[in-house]
Amino acid sequence: MDHFQYRDGRLAAEEVDLTALADQIGTPFYCYSTATLERHFQVFDAALQGLDHTVCYAVKANSNLAVIATLARQGAGADVVSGGELTQVLKAGVAPEKVVFSGVGKTAAEMAQAIDAGIAQMNVESEPELALLAMVARDKGARVPVAIRINPDVDAKTHEKITTGRAENKFGIDWDRAPDIYARARDLDGIDASGIAVHIGSQLTDLTPYRDAYGRLAQVTRDLRAQGHDIRRLDLGGGLGIPYADPAEAVSAPPPEDYGALVRDMVGGLDCHVTVEPGRLIAGNAGILVTRVLYVKDGATRRFVIVDAAMNDLLRPTLYDAYHAVVSVREPAAGESTQPVDVVGPVCETGDTFGEERHLPAVMPGDLLAIRSAGAYGAVMASTYNGRPLVPEVLVSGGRHAVVRRRVEAEEMMGFDAMAPWLTDGGAG
Ligand SMILES: *Cc1c(COP(=O)(O)O)cnc(C)c1O
Repeated sequence: MDHFQYRDGRLAAEEVDLTALADQIGTPFYCYSTATLERHFQVFDAALQGLDHTVCYAVKANSNLAVIATLARQGAGADVVSGGELTQVLKAGVAPEKVVFSGVGKTAAEMAQAIDAGIAQMNVESEPELALLAMVARDKGARVPVAIRINPDVDAKTHEKITTGRAENKFGIDWDRAPDIYARARDLDGIDASGIAVHIGSQLTDLTPYRDAYGRLAQVTRDLRAQGHDIRRLDLGGGLGIPYADPAEAVSAPPPEDYGALVRDMVGGLDCHVTVEPGRLIAGNAGILVTRVLYVKDGATRRFVIVDAAMNDLLRPTLYDAYHAVVSVREPAAGESTQPVDVVGPVCETGDTFGEERHLPAVMPGDLLAIRSAGAYGAVMASTYNGRPLVPEVLVSGGRHAVVRRRVEAEEMMGFDAMAPWLTDGGAG
């Protein structure tokens, strides 16, 4: 459930009228609902009741400072994948002891930053990374809590670009090599390898791969303990899918309660602290992208609705073939007829298409549309392709709204470029 519903014939974000908001700040813009963010966090957290656990929000899904701060106030920790994200979560008020650091390519500088901040856990993904971390820790006289990410060789059955737990993926170490690497870790002064991590992919709509992966995790835990390793922390990753409301595929997402029951079932008896790293589940349906219709154009076989948002603002449809529901901000009348249209952006690529053959009520230039489920992997993946500045982000709470990232002007964007000196002397040659 989310808080983007029609009120008095127009789509609202909680109690904020999106039509008025669009007039005030211009389009396109992202809009996030505080109530939805909080609700998703609370429902997920409650699903893990009874387990000693921390929910570490995967910040890469949406790293707006106000979004992170909203979740931090609910008690969320954070899963970060770069020094930049670590800076963001600390600034937004996440306690360092609730931060875990994931990713296959951490630099020595990022490791040093994490050690200085005193974060809860480094998730190590390879032996060379373990060796470098040990060196950085030794230089600082620190002992770093580490979870080694194992690759359980499980197919998450999700889009190939976001599946991460198969043997041929770049993530983690092969699960059957865990005894070797933990034995090596034991000899490294700066390393406290008392955790194990897995993360098998994103947008999982079936719990079976989780069952397989967590079963393997439990097995590795028992094996390592039998070899004398003191395993106290399990990091279960993120990836639980959300409904994108695709009527064709009728994809249903597993309820968090079922996921929680599975976690209790598979690892609840191991007496470990459990970390979970949901991103999309928290932020995905807590955000929309509001866009205005520029033109309606009749092609030979299709009608195109050309809007002012584009693939640079929301990359998911073209990157992952992702489905996003598109709705009219004006509430259609009961029984109002619809027609199939392709909703496209202005960018010079055919991939700049938000949806094909979508049934919308008659729309005219100037009308507003909302692209739903855009709160995760939306604004964070935006680029300035085609000379298009990043769009604003707005957070609402009840009847209030705040622009939590302002619109960037084209002139400012250009400010990052510099002329080469040999081009500024006015002459040719
Ligand atoms: C991306 C990622 C997540 C979050 O995935 P979601 O599908 O957004 O829940 C969690 N953990 C790690 C290590 C990740 O790379």
